Amino acid sequence: MSFENLKLIEPILRALKTEGYTTPTPIQEQAIPIVLQRRDLLGCAQTGTGKTAAFSIPILQLLYQDRLQHKEQKTIKALILTPTRELAIQINESLAAYGKHTGLKHLVIYGGVSQNPQTEALRRGIDILVATPGRLLDLMQQRFVNLEHIKMLVLDEADRMLDMGFYDDIMFIIDSLPKKRQNLLFSATMPHKIRELARKILHQPEEVTKAEPWREPTSW
Ligand code: AMP
Repeated sequence: MSFENLKLIEPILRALKTEGYTTPTPIQEQAIPIVLQRRDLLGCAQTGTGKTAAFSIPILQLLYQDRLQHKEQKTIKALILTPTRELAIQINESLAAYGKHTGLKHLVIYGGVSQNPQTEALRRGIDILVATPGRLLDLMQQRFVNLEHIKMLVLDEADRMLDMGFYDDIMFIIDSLPKKRQNLLFSATMPHKIRELARKILHQPEEVTKAEPWREPTSW
């Protein structure tokens, strides 16, 4: 299996080549076609499985193709929620790497730092927002963030977000999104509370469970 087999577009294939990626990881092989079909997804995958690329690559591809068709403005179309600042920064770096030939704009926001550069960037307009729930809620309440045009939502490391007490924040954020959207939920573990959350948020999801981290690239 190669990335070409996953029907990825040239600007993304070119970026993956620069990154030195030759073969999709198991979670990427399974998740990318599902996301490209605009289906909802429940992914059981921990850090180290390549899950970030599993959702970032198809999001970039769908938004790139939508832009070619509709000439959309720089409104936020995809929202990625993740529990920590470190993860948020990593996801944003992945979007920069895989999306560098797409022209799509992305931004990461998290707490503990001044909000001014973040609100400035929001004002200039972005396509994809990566956020920790607390700071996002904060900026939403100050009306710096407009989520009216969201068509894709990712909950990354959902189990950790619940463990950190973000349930109410997440539900508040989700309640202010358009109802018609694609939803992706990734979690390292699938306890009852995650199944409950998935049942509330996902619409007829495809399930992908490749939880083991990859260590030997040659074994994919
Ligand atoms: P993640 O599980 O998303 O945190 O990714 C773990 C690491 O694997 C990151 O450093 C990625 O850059 C890298 N990675 C993800 N997918 C691939 C791939 N298909 N080929 C090579 N490296 C990858």
